[in-house]
Amino acid sequence: PLHVTGFTPQRRVLASRQKMILQRVAVVGAGAAGLCAARHILSRLDRFAPPVLFELGGKVGGTWCYDERVGTDGAGRPIHSSMYRDLRTNLPKEVMMFPDFPFDPQLDSFLPHQEVQRYLERYCQSHHIGPHIRFNTMVEKVRPVVTATERSKEEDRTLWEVTSSDASGCCKTEAFDSIFVCSGHYSDPHIPDIPGIERFKGTVLHSHSYKFAEPFAGQSVVVLGAKASGLDISIELAGVGAQVTLSHGQPPLTCPLPAGVQQSCPVVAVEEDGRLLFQDGSVSGADILMFCTGYNFRFPYLDGPQLGLRIEDHLLSPLYRFMMPPAFPSLFFIGMCKLICPFPNFHCQVQFALAVLEGVVSLPPRAVREDEAWLALREKAEQGVQRRHLLVLQNEQWDYCQSLARAAGFTPLPPAVRGLYEEVWRQRRFNSVDYRGRNYKLIGEDRWEQIN
Ligand code: FAD
Repeated sequence: PLHVTGFTPQRRVLASRQKMILQRVAVVGAGAAGLCAARHILSRLDRFAPPVLFELGGKVGGTWCYDERVGTDGAGRPIHSSMYRDLRTNLPKEVMMFPDFPFDPQLDSFLPHQEVQRYLERYCQSHHIGPHIRFNTMVEKVRPVVTATERSKEEDRTLWEVTSSDASGCCKTEAFDSIFVCSGHYSDPHIPDIPGIERFKGTVLHSHSYKFAEPFAGQSVVVLGAKASGLDISIELAGVGAQVTLSHGQPPLTCPLPAGVQQSCPVVAVEEDGRLLFQDGSVSGADILMFCTGYNFRFPYLDGPQLGLRIEDHLLSPLYRFMMPPAFPSLFFIGMCKLICPFPNFHCQVQFALAVLEGVVSLPPRAVREDEAWLALREKAEQGVQRRHLLVLQNEQWDYCQSLARAAGFTPLPPAVRGLYEEVWRQRRFNSVDYRGRNYKLIGEDRWEQIN
């Protein structure tokens, strides 16, 4: 049965005229981004009703909820987390943390994934978020219902209908004033097109389904892609005696790699006899072909064209401030940019978004939002950035977060976070195998120190 609950457009307009209404926010996902949204909404209960978090899994943590199963869960839903058993964070905890919620100071800087999961559970508990989460509940559809306001100068108002289904399959539709999209983008494996792949005789898998190295002992594995996962998984595989070919299109990595890892140019096709053809014309067989080629954006519950949004594998466009479809400034995508310091980024985006809803930040007109959103992408494209990398922020992330803080009036990220983040990136480039052996501490706002 379909139940529609929440307020009608008429009630909402009436109540907002009387300045009485508390805004209702739906948060899709209870990973780090969704928890961060909830924490900041709960600290503004004079303006917002307690949020409703929809979480398709049975726990908080999203990515950090390690699940050894491959494929689907008991309810037939795809496993969300791409975590593997022996992963340790690639950022130190001093940088990774939400700026207002430190990790346990006794812990090392680089953490096993279980510690991040524990941290997020503690964050959830400390901010009393748990009662607002509907676990095992999947958002099926988010639909805007636009109501014209009487005052012609104001923009049309949007109410959002959220349809969700719980574990028993019961569907419900409810109305909200705004939506925070916090469903992550590291779940839907991206597999590049390799002509003849069906002829490959070994096993093909994506890093999403990789859990631990032991089954690969003694095998020859071609790992495609040398970003964070490709490199880390190659090192793990070499550790159990696999022969790894790390195939990628970047300039050759100069950092020392374990003896079992050799680099090669990209695989471009699979030959008639099932062997792999590399870009330089060489041909080689392999037991395993492992795609470490990243993930696609996927929001099955959103209708892109209806929102004026193009949802492509590697790009969402246009998004004003990398967050809002220009026509819908009450829909916020949290954490969509790549190569960012995720938790601090969520912390800034969420506070900016709430300041928009509170009217603390006044947005430019829709046409200007649209122009600015396209301009941000066009400028990057003109600098030669490939289309699939247009949402990579990396060095720009600090100015971006700073500008959100300035506009919304919240405390900016401490400069020490940037300093330490950049140092760790430098270390990773030179020493991919051992860079996690160091420990750091922040000294006040501006400085950090290596402690061993
Ligand atoms: P997620 O953690 O993916 O959470 C999204 C949540 O939404 C999930 O719980 C999911 O079940 C739920 N959901 C999805 N769809 C629906 C729906 N339709 N209805 C209801 N719920 C839904 N970051 C770091 O800072 N340091 C690291 O060392 C690091 N290592 C990483 C290693 C790997 C292998 C991966 C994949 C990522 C890593 N990251 C790291 C990035 C990490 O993803 C982010 O730090 C962060 O956890 C992302 O949080 P999120 O809330 O945006 O998404």
